[in-house]
Amino acid sequence: MDPNCLFCKIVAGNIPAKRVYEDSLCLCFADVNPQAPTHLLLIPRQHITSLAHVEKEQLPLLGHLMATAADLARSAKLDKGYRIVLNTGADGGQTVDHLHLHLLGGRAMSWPPG
Ligand code: AMP
Ligand code: ZN
Repeated sequence: MDPNCLFCKIVAGNIPAKRVYEDSLCLCFADVNPQAPTHLLLIPRQHITSLAHVEKEQLPLLGHLMATAADLARSAKLDKGYRIVLNTGADGGQTVDHLHLHLLGGRAMSWPPG
């Protein structure tokens, strides 16, 4: 855990969040500023700064996050589709430096993203 990291504090329960799923590897909670009818964040319990910081031995964890995101989308009945977003670094629009997947759904998404 990084004591200065917002999402590590959510994992630890020191900052409240609307938790919707958790297991031994990851935690899912509602985004505080939703950009779609469904907007969930899925994070590893372990502090990883960004996708650019993932080590080889953490690749199974990335696979688990992706598979869990698909399960959560099924649970949320996003049958018409959804978007997974993984902002990385300043130009990628990452504002919280703890790797997280956005699961967005419940409306049609546009392309290209802003
Ligand atoms: P990103 O810009 O990809 O780093 O995404 C960070 C996301 O975290 C944004 O969508 C924020 O709305 C969300 N966020 C920030 N603080 C909290 C919080 N305390 N609880 C839930 N979501 C948060
Ligand atoms: Zn963290």
